[in-house]
Amino acid sequence: MRHAVLNLEESRIREVANAGMGRSDVLAFWFGESDESTPEVVRQAAVDSLERGETFYAHNLGLPELRDAVAAYTSRLHGPVGADRIAITSGGVNALMLAVQALVDAGDEVVAVTPVWPNLTAQPCIMGARLRCVALRPQAGGAWTLDMGELLAAITPTTRLLIVNAPNNPTGWTLTAGEQQQILKHCRRTGTWILADEVYERLYYEPTANGCAPSFLDVAGPEDLLVVVQSFSKSFLMTGWRLGWLVMPPDMTQHMGKLIEFNTSCTSVFTQRAGLAALQHADQITPCVVAHLKTCRDTLVPLLQALPGVEVAPARGGMYAFFRLAGQGDSLAVAKRLVAEAGLGLAPGNAFGDEAQGWLRWCFASRDPQRLVDGVQRLKSWLAL
Ligand code: PMP
Repeated sequence: MRHAVLNLEESRIREVANAGMGRSDVLAFWFGESDESTPEVVRQAAVDSLERGETFYAHNLGLPELRDAVAAYTSRLHGPVGADRIAITSGGVNALMLAVQALVDAGDEVVAVTPVWPNLTAQPCIMGARLRCVALRPQAGGAWTLDMGELLAAITPTTRLLIVNAPNNPTGWTLTAGEQQQILKHCRRTGTWILADEVYERLYYEPTANGCAPSFLDVAGPEDLLVVVQSFSKSFLMTGWRLGWLVMPPDMTQHMGKLIEFNTSCTSVFTQRAGLAALQHADQITPCVVAHLKTCRDTLVPLLQALPGVEVAPARGGMYAFFRLAGQGDSLAVAKRLVAEAGLGLAPGNAFGDEAQGWLRWCFASRDPQRLVDGVQRLKSWLAL
């Protein structure tokens, strides 16, 4: 087997979850998904498609009507984007992998902003890239910030690709439009591609005109070396469907179609029909999802802040409270102890990067906010032991 594969680390989030999955006494907040199932109107569209017998292969790049709908949705949020720049993928993670396959050769230098969901740093390593991480820094009070000078200094003409996820999983950090402009300007000079993971763009809690976090699509032109990854998972409660999309320069799309052929060939049609229904009902679904998540965030974070030794800032975007526990060193060990001793399932911060050692991630996407209150009570009792 290839060393790049042998050397892949198993997910530390899974390592904690495996210790507690199936235990009914554990309150689990370790994975990045809501416990609420997909809206009925979306599920029904898939049922109808199956009943029509839509069980065949489809176009590599996705159903033309879904690509059109995604282009219209994206254009509404970020200004004109043509369907010729869209590929439908089997989830955001597949979109990320396709982008990395398309852009990164073995030995290429890739810069990633961390901490970040571990898939984003594992994927270039699978391709044999040399990964260089630029770490966000925690401030007093628990918010994480980017040192722009450090990031720009790390991106040189030998840097093939910059990977950046904002709003960020796990920290909730987001980029401003001004920072995106600075990064884009710099990457134009160095000839570096930008892979922007914006799957949390709609889960944004600051007031904005378009109900969206700042996007690289707002500042870049169609010919810029920019690939944006999107997903139906978060904004439409569709994690299990495996449906996402890519936005890329128009002359890249036909090549992406070839790569999709050799990866998955296409996304299943009934899934795409569900995606189409989700976009048609986006104005009903997403604002409710976001309003509920904001309630969850605003329930959890003040309770955590009131605990002795806990440092946490309300996330500007995403669906995680990322917090530090004073005096607790190894996140993985703490997360395992919390499962065993408190019945509380959290993700260890060091799963997302060494700089997040000592931190824990709590996914607050809970249908019933009382679960969050109960979880904090468990943490409080454990801390008092
Ligand atoms: N990017 C980030 C930052 C994520 O957190 C996730 C899901 N955890 C994804 C991409 C992929 O989501 P999906 O494959 O479900 O679309």
